[in-house]
Amino acid sequence: MSILVIAEHEHGALKGATFNTVTAALACGSEVHVLVAGHNVGEAARQAAQIAGVTKVLHADAPQLDAQLAENVAAQVLAVAQGYSHILFPATAHGKNAAPRVAAKLDVAQISDITKVVSPDTFERPIYAGNAIATVQSADAVKVITVRTTAFDAAPATGGAASVESVAAVSDSGLSSFVGREVTKSDRPELTAAKIIVSGGRALGSAEKFNEVLTPLADKLGAALGASRAAVDAGYAPNDWQVGQTGKIVAPQLYIAAGISGAIQHLAGMKDSKVIVAINKDPEAPIFSVADYGLEADLFEAVPELVKSL
Ligand SMILES: Cc1cc2nc3c(=O)[nH]c(=O)nc-3n(C[C@H](O)[C@H](O)[C@H](O)COP(=O)(O)OP(=O)(O)OC[C@H]3O[C@@H](n4cnc5c(N)ncnc54)[C@H](O)[C@@H]3O)c2cc1C
Repeated sequence: MSILVIAEHEHGALKGATFNTVTAALACGSEVHVLVAGHNVGEAARQAAQIAGVTKVLHADAPQLDAQLAENVAAQVLAVAQGYSHILFPATAHGKNAAPRVAAKLDVAQISDITKVVSPDTFERPIYAGNAIATVQSADAVKVITVRTTAFDAAPATGGAASVESVAAVSDSGLSSFVGREVTKSDRPELTAAKIIVSGGRALGSAEKFNEVLTPLADKLGAALGASRAAVDAGYAPNDWQVGQTGKIVAPQLYIAAGISGAIQHLAGMKDSKVIVAINKDPEAPIFSVADYGLEADLFEAVPELVKSL
């Protein structure tokens, strides 16, 4: 039984999500291969070959794979899919874009967002915004899976000595074309990879206050900034900061929620954080039910005080 992991990479280097996905793959079986598809991604392929537990790397390199368009990536996966019992993608924007295309073409049901491998055909996945865990068994010949990366430790980046095999790149599907990319530049860690996250909610009241109150705390802690959907919808914080069911799923070492009520849709994105600190002036706020440390206080006083004492 061979298992194929679809690598995620950026600027020629593997992204963290790939390492977590390899761990999930190793729980399905021992023959784990990684597909690195892109343009000028030789270095990423070499990195993949060093991941502990990986036995082979497939390297597809061509300009039409540069922009990682889902149509081309899915076609590339399908071109090498023969013989694999499992095909695993990280449950990231990229993975969630390509995986359903692969599952549909293989005429199998996708198994989404797994958090545990019970056995090679049985998986756990959260449903109802994380309020219940479904155990799903698949009878499909090929399991096309997306992996919730926060649920699996990263596989060690070294210790492997896999062979790297060049595979023919598929031609451009012609179904979509790359127009442009607007990338937010930030010195802060990426939200899903950050060890500490400072997150703000509707209580902040404006984008100016959001920045004025939370940025100094994030700076002191070297943290990423996050937000509730209410804060994003009100324009206090950019879209890609949203944590939750319809935002990003995070599990940092420390999550500080300031002025966030703790609606289930928000909790769905952060309740696996190792330590949760909540600052809220309402003692009944649901966020306190998941918090390891709760401070019933006005955030406009508590957060600056915290910054001062750090
Ligand atoms: C399908 C669907 C998907 C959703 N997806 C998401 C998602 O991905 N992420 C998400 O976050 N939400 C999501 N939501 C929205 C979610 O239901 C809540 O509406 C949202 O999380 C509320 O944001 P909030 O906690 O910032 O605001 P509120 O619920 O308004 O809470 C503000 C909190 O701030 C406290 N407060 C006020 N002033 C102060 C002060 N001065 N000091 C301290 N505390 C103060 C209040 O006591 C209150 O608890 C989704 C909803 C739906 C229906």
